[in-house]
Amino acid sequence: MMYFPSFVYLYNGGRTESLRLEEVSGYLKNIFRNSDIQIRDDFVGHYLSGLSPEEKEKAMDSLAREIAGIKVRNTVNKDIIFEPLPGEIEYEKQRISDPQKKSFGILYDGFKLMALFSKLIPEEESDFNHCHIIFTNQLFGTWDGGDLRYHARVSVYGFPSVISTTGIVEAPAKPRKFYMKRRMGFNITTLKEEISGRFIDYDDPRMTEVMKGYALQAIFFQGVGEPFCDDKTCRLYNAHWQEELLQAQLSSSERDHIGLCPEHQKIITQSLS
Ligand SMILES: [Zn+2]
Repeated sequence: MMYFPSFVYLYNGGRTESLRLEEVSGYLKNIFRNSDIQIRDDFVGHYLSGLSPEEKEKAMDSLAREIAGIKVRNTVNKDIIFEPLPGEIEYEKQRISDPQKKSFGILYDGFKLMALFSKLIPEEESDFNHCHIIFTNQLFGTWDGGDLRYHARVSVYGFPSVISTTGIVEAPAKPRKFYMKRRMGFNITTLKEEISGRFIDYDDPRMTEVMKGYALQAIFFQGVGEPFCDDKTCRLYNAHWQEELLQAQLSSSERDHIGLCPEHQKIITQSLS
């Protein structure tokens, strides 16, 4: 029985050299041997490349406006309605046209970002046999109805799935002493040095290895409806702490190349038979 999509597209918008999508693609190819895994440009760039010059100019203007409109203005109020400022729209337009430009200090609404990207997927790739995994360096968050605030996230899974190379640094919690000392006024750079190795940092050489697991979660979400696993040594473990994420993604890959628990390994085996 085949649960998994026949086509998987990895969009290269992480904007960091430490994310090597050829390796992620090779890893997935080794697991999903019946699927076609393709690497594409950054998602919006890929979309724009299919348009005529006039259409492209128009699309860039409206996309820049829409993206500026889904910025989180206030992390403790999700209902603020606002018009993006001309400078914000211009910033987004530049970001779209320059694939190297990084985005810093902006938090977007993750589900709105997913919805916006979803509209750009062409009809012929809009069924569940096509899995779109968008890597971006945009930082996004989702509203938590429990403590009534936005929390930064590494990924949102859906159609498409979106994974952030900034979120992987900022979202999972660092060791507790980092926050304690930060509140006491210690310098962030010094604090990061103190816990070095125990969290994923910007341009971290382990980024590629870690992101393999997040791509896998996106494919499991689409294939079987559940991206996560309770086993702390499985790549599908939903880590909330940096140290957990390193354990799930790195120690599992030392055990064997794939890094899945026996139960998830079995789902893969069954899907191939
Ligand atoms: Zn598992």
